Amino acid sequence: MYISCEKELRSIYSIQEGLHGKSVVATRDIPPQTILMRASGELLTFEATRFLGEQEAYTVQVAVNKYILCRPPFRFVNHSCNPNAALDADLFLYSLRLIKSGEEITWDYSSSMLERSWTMNCTCGAPHCRKLITDFDLLPVEIQQRYIRNGWVMPFILRALGK
Ligand SMILES: [Zn+2]
Repeated sequence: MYISCEKELRSIYSIQEGLHGKSVVATRDIPPQTILMRASGELLTFEATRFLGEQEAYTVQVAVNKYILCRPPFRFVNHSCNPNAALDADLFLYSLRLIKSGEEITWDYSSSMLERSWTMNCTCGAPHCRKLITDFDLLPVEIQQRYIRNGWVMPFILRALGK
């Protein structure tokens, strides 16, 4: 896997303001399997996330009862049902395929969700958009199987589901 240096990272994408809020967009072609950034921030319990107000939208689940309140740029990486990036077990976001300059960087929030709490209507526009962002185990079985086969699912979910 190719790992960019910090200086280089800042030049391969930028945070952009759009109609639906901020997004992270590639500013040059990014090869497959490139580490893009790491999800990092304050570690919180599920209970604590309930007190965040609007900031709750910036949390990502990393274990059964652990959440990170993500710092930028990761907090601005949007969901897609057909993502071009994924989180690995160490919370690094990496490209799944060639991401063209000007293309938005996205990942699938469901690959890190098993909580029976938050859901969101999806308007990602992908041909097979699932219309609802929800827990991993509620996705169609063939999608679950493909994600598990490709290693795109957070380890805490695999453990919880006995996979
Ligand atoms: Zn979608």
